[in-house]
This record gives sequence, C-alpha cells and structure tokens, in this order.
Amino acid sequence: MRGELLYEGKGKQLFASDVENELIQVFKDDATAFDGIKHRVIAGKGELNCAMSAFFFERLHEAGINTHFIRREGAVEMRVKRLVMIPVEVVVRNVAAGSICKRLGLEEGMMLDHPLTELFYKSDELHDPMINTEHAELFGWAAREDIAFMRGVALKVNQRLSDLLAASGIRLIDFKLEFGEAGGAILLGDEITPDGCRLWDAETGRKLDKDVFRRDLGGLSEAYHEVAGRLGVAI
Ligand code: C5P
Repeated sequence: MRGELLYEGKGKQLFASDVENELIQVFKDDATAFDGIKHRVIAGKGELNCAMSAFFFERLHEAGINTHFIRREGAVEMRVKRLVMIPVEVVVRNVAAGSICKRLGLEEGMMLDHPLTELFYKSDELHDPMINTEHAELFGWAAREDIAFMRGVALKVNQRLSDLLAASGIRLIDFKLEFGEAGGAILLGDEITPDGCRLWDAETGRKLDKDVFRRDLGGLSEAYHEVAGRLGVAI
C-alpha cells in the first residue's frame, strides 16, 4: 500500500508504507540519459526493471550481501528498508566503456586486468563528478572505513553478478551501486537493472543495456526483455 510520495527521481518514486521504516519503491517507465536531456517513456520498462532488480537482490541475499530489498509487491513495486543515502556512487568496471574511455583515452572494450572501482559524488547539479576517498572524508559524505566497506561489497556484487550473467551468455562490463544506512549498518540500496549496468552479449558484443537508448542502437524494451528472458526472470 502506497502512502505519501517522499521522493521522485528520473526512474523511480519512493512512497511511505504502512510500516515506519519501510518504503515502497516504484519503477517508472521513463528512460532518461545525459542528465535528463534525452527522455522517453517506454511502456513496460518499469515492470522489467522491477522484476530484474528483485531477481538480482534475491541472488545477492543468497550470497550473504545485505540490501534494502524486502519483497516485491506488485508489477512495478517493491518493499524496501528506509535508508539514509550516502551521496557517493560506486562504479565497478571489468572492461573499459563509457566515461573512463573519454576521461583516459581508452578504447571501448579493453579488458581491465582486474576489476576497477571508482567513486562519484551524487549531484545532478554538478553532473556526478569523480571523487576519491579523501574528498568523501573531507567533505563529510562518507567515512574512510565506510568507503572501504562499500568498495568491498561492490566487488562481491561484481563477482556474483558476473557469474550469474556469464551463465546466460552476458558479459558484465560495468555497473553503478548506491548505498545507505539503516540501524547502524550500511546496506546496498537503489536498484540493479540494465539502466545502471553495461551488459554485452558474450558472443556478438551486442549491447543489451541503457546504451541502446543513449546511442539509439535499437529497441530498449527488446534488449531488456532479452536480458530478463535469458536470466529466466518472468515478466
Ligand atoms: O558513465 P560511466 O561510464 O561512468 O558509467 C559507468 C556505469 O555506471 C554504467 O553502467 C552506467 O550505466 C552506470 N551509471 C549509472 N548512473 C550514473 C552514472 C553511471 O547508472 N549516474
């Protein structure tokens, strides 16, 4: 049951629920890119993302990773624990793509010798600038040990998701995670969907993630259905 709308982002809404420390996270059909400059509504995307996010969170729970996910409650709704969000995004990269290619002049598709973690300050206004642990600590966004903890969790998530996707013929190129605090613990929050990951077909290299929308490479809904279908996620 949805209560008051507490937050609305580009892809999701958060509502109060009937339980004090639990919220209802609703996945919207909106697709946005380039800080919201490009926008389209794609029917069924909210449901696809809700189903895939629930599936990934469940697999992470099985691997002993604590997340805000409680249970799915409808086509586009899931119940989550209320978090105080940490304004630092953690990106894990296995292969060079996206912003690291621009920043460092790398060729898209270059394998990295080991997974790389990067930190970004979550700020639409500043376009999420890259930061390091010292910035996070100095400006009070996250303590040094909390950053170390988040990086460790992000690498565990990378291992679990990479294995899961590889079994379905999909390469996990990179992804972004967000964390928050609840009851003194740091939990993985937000979502895990092809909106926040790069996923390439292992055989052909075909893109199966939001780059399809960012770069006009075909149907986004078809690509997301393909990922869900290969993972055995029922829509
Ligand atoms: O843009 P960049 O290459 O840094 O993105 C790395 C990964 O993090 C990509 O999978 C992208 O979809 C995701 N990301 C995100 N939200 C952001 C920034 C990056 O989901 N604000």
